[in-house]
Amino acid sequence: MPAPSKKTPSRKSSASPTSQPFALRPSSIQGQGAFATRPIKKGERIIEYLGERITQDEADERYDDGAMSRHHTFLFSVDEDTVIDAAREGNDARFINHSCAPNCQAFLEDDRIFIYSLRDIAVGEELVYDYGYERTEGMGPEEEALYVCRCGAPGCRGTILAPVKKEKAAPAKKAKASKKKGSSTKKSSKKASTRSGSATKSRSRAARG
Ligand SMILES: [Zn+2]
Repeated sequence: MPAPSKKTPSRKSSASPTSQPFALRPSSIQGQGAFATRPIKKGERIIEYLGERITQDEADERYDDGAMSRHHTFLFSVDEDTVIDAAREGNDARFINHSCAPNCQAFLEDDRIFIYSLRDIAVGEELVYDYGYERTEGMGPEEEALYVCRCGAPGCRGTILAPVKKEKAAPAKKAKASKKKGSSTKKSSKKASTRSGSATKSRSRAARG
């Protein structure tokens, strides 16, 4: 007699909800990337962006943009004063690369950062989100050059900085920024969207410093 097909829970729980749905592999975008190891549904919470929580001032002390040829910190801004530095106590979320054609997005929830899928993602696809780095006050061509994007997406905007807001109609006199390194430009860091309400959290802190 055929046994009824009962669902045996004896399968290996490799796909448990807590397990990471991606693996790290070399990426054509940059360094290591995160590649889906199972199909991911649109709107799934993929991973929390973890790291040491420090103040903006601590981040400024810790990193000197002027000493880098290309921007490569793991800073993620939580609010005006707090950033997450995934270079310390960070998890694999810090390896998720930027793309101008993202399939994921970072959201701020209760002062924590989570990466969600924006659409269905197939096995083997690289997970990417738009870093949308804040432009800081007095950022000139030299600083902007640190944030070059090589994501290769058809609509690549050439930078991992957030798109310029359309407010500026006339191209203002471009003060040739001859900023010396060590000037007090605030660190730029990734920005998350807010999922609901409390939009003040995502307000730019550009006017500071
Ligand atoms: Zn790009």
